[in-house]
Amino acid sequence: MAEFHYEVDADGVAIITWDVPGKSMNVMSLEGFGELDAHVDTALGDAGVKGIVITSGKKDFAGGMDLNVLAGMRQGEDPARAIFDGIMNIHRILRKIERAGMDPKTLKGSKPVAAALPGTAAGIGLEIPLACHRIFAADNPKARLGLPEIMVGIFPGAGGTTRLVRKLGAMAAAPFLLEGKLQEPKKLKAAGIIDEIVPPEELLQRAKDWVLSAKDADIVKPWDQKGYKMPGGAPYHPAGFMTFVGANAMVNGKTMGVYPAAHALLSAVYEGALVPFDTALRIEARWFTNILMNPSSSAMIRSLFLNKEALEKGAVRPNQPDQSVRKVGILGAGMMGAGIAYVSANAGIEVILIDANQEAAEKGKAHSESLLDKGVSRKKVTAEKKAEVLARITATTDYAALSGCDLIVEAVFEDPKVKADVTARAEAAVAEDCIFATNTSTLPISELAKASTRSDQFIGIHFFSPVDKMMLVEIIRGKQSGDRAVAKALDFVRQIRKTPIVVNDARFFYANRCIIPYINEGVRMVKEGVRPGLVENAAKLVGMPVGPLQLVDETSIDLGVKIAKATRAAMGDAYPDAAVDEVLFWMADQGRLGRKAKAGFYTYDDTGRREALWQGLLDKYKPGDQPELTEVQHRLLFAQVLEAVRALEDGVLTDIREGDVGAILGWGFAPWSGGPFSWLDMIGAARAVELCEGLEARHGARFSAPQLLRDMAEKGEGFYTRFAPAQAA
Ligand code: NAD
Repeated sequence: MAEFHYEVDADGVAIITWDVPGKSMNVMSLEGFGELDAHVDTALGDAGVKGIVITSGKKDFAGGMDLNVLAGMRQGEDPARAIFDGIMNIHRILRKIERAGMDPKTLKGSKPVAAALPGTAAGIGLEIPLACHRIFAADNPKARLGLPEIMVGIFPGAGGTTRLVRKLGAMAAAPFLLEGKLQEPKKLKAAGIIDEIVPPEELLQRAKDWVLSAKDADIVKPWDQKGYKMPGGAPYHPAGFMTFVGANAMVNGKTMGVYPAAHALLSAVYEGALVPFDTALRIEARWFTNILMNPSSSAMIRSLFLNKEALEKGAVRPNQPDQSVRKVGILGAGMMGAGIAYVSANAGIEVILIDANQEAAEKGKAHSESLLDKGVSRKKVTAEKKAEVLARITATTDYAALSGCDLIVEAVFEDPKVKADVTARAEAAVAEDCIFATNTSTLPISELAKASTRSDQFIGIHFFSPVDKMMLVEIIRGKQSGDRAVAKALDFVRQIRKTPIVVNDARFFYANRCIIPYINEGVRMVKEGVRPGLVENAAKLVGMPVGPLQLVDETSIDLGVKIAKATRAAMGDAYPDAAVDEVLFWMADQGRLGRKAKAGFYTYDDTGRREALWQGLLDKYKPGDQPELTEVQHRLLFAQVLEAVRALEDGVLTDIREGDVGAILGWGFAPWSGGPFSWLDMIGAARAVELCEGLEARHGARFSAPQLLRDMAEKGEGFYTRFAPAQAA
């Protein structure tokens, strides 16, 4: 079935309409490129055609390239060659649009090509317009335009990098290429990326009018004209020199050198800026090939795009009828309950927000108001929308208001007795088929379910803080949770546009189970006399967004103490973290409870801004000989990944895709790696076991390689080859 349609109107303008059948959003496939190529040939070869408008049959222009196609290009005996040739073919097609039959000597004889974008245009959806001579965008507040490739570990590789830099200069292009943000049309117009914003109903006509009136000079790109100079200066121009040196430092500062795509992008820009346009495209293609061949990129695409989307679309959803939530009851309007109320109301769900007294319930609702106010002041939320969302939230102490709720989410104090009490009260107020979820972070779901008269309808829905920002939701299946409860939780998470993973019930579930050893390893090193600065920097230089000591400060040291005490009580003599506790308890005794106390492993100013690592640590835990950076990094990484492997061995995780996606979204596990299982696959099970043996000999049994990893090392298997062969790199 055709993805692009071709017609010529009465005025001789060829309209090429992108409209992929059966999809709500256009995404580019290899077939699509073939069709676009053929239609452009037809238009250029037809003397009756005066010019071309490329537009969309849908409300948006395009969401980007089908990343499955990119992943699939890495095939055959010489995958690098296959990718490079594929990319060069795309360059050829887009360059043909850009030159549009122009005589290279006289710069005459070409046909004008306009892009008419009704809505969102991302990735290749903006790279195609960038090859056209004029870009029209509809005045559509929902439209988002930009080049988001960097977010999944690649960069714009269909000429977008080279064209944007030549159009705007390296400095002005940098935020679009390096941050990958999607923005409203008017921001792109202000930046000079698109040319005109027009009323939606006039979009096509205005583009056609321009095509019919364009002069030769209008349809020659600046870089195809003699004497072209890059705005802001090429690298050896004094201004350009400043830009490139600055950009290089900025990128390394932000990425800590672990994201190969940012490096490759800068290299493509720098090297491309020194040569003519067509050579720059070849350079871009070479760097793009380099990036697609890099295991980090394929792992990032796999976890952050393909599998994240698959989980959001219900890859692990039991086969059950639609369980969309209409009315949710939230018990406890504290930090978590208030956040859950906000995301639910924002998604159009009616919310009953209950607390022990009216004041606390109102305070919980006020959290939504303050988030909405922030949105209004940033012009992201209208006053009507704010009123609508707030009107959906009823703050009350009256359990009778829960009548009609089809889901309850409990977020009261972390105390089994309090939880049991509210569970019974809520169940008495709702219909038989209502699903009951608890947001507990540490208590076993199967135990809490005992307070329910319908334990098959009882489940864990574990949010992360702050709820409005954190994208992961961990759904915990208790021993008796039924499929409908799982489906309900998944449908709820889909409604509030977050990413779910489903795990089984065990101490700390999945994310907290892995993050606690990371924190503990950092604290343990401080105790051993490793400089706190080395611990924090080692974490960042391996791509962890937040060092372990900063993380304790953020989550608070008293919480750490509380968890340590509870874990020690549960484990008895087998408890392995006494050394860690010594530091935490000492910090707590000093009143250094973390950010909230404006004193913790770090010092803070009066406004609560983090200043520096607290020098008192060095007085107490005198630094001795310092370990190598990689030793510290291996300790921090293996503390997490071995726990992830054990979670898989124990059956807490049932799907490595969830393990990888959940790690990145839940606790920020080095995103460049694609997640703990992808990282282990990158270094290989044999090397991982070897590293574990060294770590175990030097630091203790917590680094002992799990049997599963040893088994895989023996058989030469990887996690993806063993558990998800279709996705093995
Ligand atoms: P919180 O102390 O901020 O809020 C708890 C709220 O429950 C308070 O407003 C309190 O008044 C209310 N409450 C207590 N008893 C009640 C009762 N009998 N009836 C009605 N309301 C009652 O705590 P929080 O941080 O929002 O945590 C709530 C739950 O979420 C806990 O189970 C916690 O383990 C879990 N959790 C917390 C986080 C986090 O980062 N804070 C993350 C995930 C899960």
